[in-house]
Amino acid sequence: MFDQLGEGVYRRRYESLDLNIGVVIGEEGVLIVDTRATHAEADELRADLVTLTKKPVRWVIDTHWHWDHTFGNSRFPGAEIWGHHLCRKALVDRGESMKEDAAVWLPDLITEFEQVVITPPTRVFEDSAGLDLGGVAVTMSYHGLGHTDADIVITVGEVGFFGDLVEEGAPPVFDDGYPLSWPGTLQGALDLGSIRIVPGHGDVFDQGGARAQLEEIEAVAMTARRCIDEGLPVGEAARLGPYQEDVMMSALNRAVELQL
Ligand SMILES: [Zn+2]
Repeated sequence: MFDQLGEGVYRRRYESLDLNIGVVIGEEGVLIVDTRATHAEADELRADLVTLTKKPVRWVIDTHWHWDHTFGNSRFPGAEIWGHHLCRKALVDRGESMKEDAAVWLPDLITEFEQVVITPPTRVFEDSAGLDLGGVAVTMSYHGLGHTDADIVITVGEVGFFGDLVEEGAPPVFDDGYPLSWPGTLQGALDLGSIRIVPGHGDVFDQGGARAQLEEIEAVAMTARRCIDEGLPVGEAARLGPYQEDVMMSALNRAVELQL
């Protein structure tokens, strides 16, 4: 089922990884936000899209470089693939090794991951870019280091596709993140004023829900600051929350190591 979020704007929430895919339909064609984790999942998405529109997919936007959002890219050969320039760089430099990361999460799909044709964005930007789908304007913007170094927000009217800068139903993932920078980045993204905020995974947020998550990420950053500035041991700080201990350990170790 596609949920309509605005005029010509939809999202589909897939059970696999609880991943959200964005769909925007203009007069000239269809744009999709993220392409799922394997070729088979991308093919399922293509089949599902036919139930919504017969127009061709002409644009793909990757919210960031993580495999669960980009490994379906090659299944949309007629489309321009857009992303932040650091999203392209990550997939060019490390795309092949990301297949091994993916297999750690979903070992049953190892054969499918091996078959993925890594297809980085070819249309890239630094701060912002826009697309005209024919009567529908789409804006892409970059706000700094966050869940990765390359998270972008895609804005269409009142809807914002935030990728994994926010996550619903599970804590944010800090493994490739920048815990000290993330709050400022998310603040900048929220200041765009989107009314309906689509996270990379889980249910749609309103501004209040997303700002509640911002406060949690700020609490993580403040705790990390205490580790760095006051020498609070990471193991002790991890028990202070707001997230469970393993998530906090990941975030605090990253923060102490990178100081970013
Ligand atoms: Zn991610």
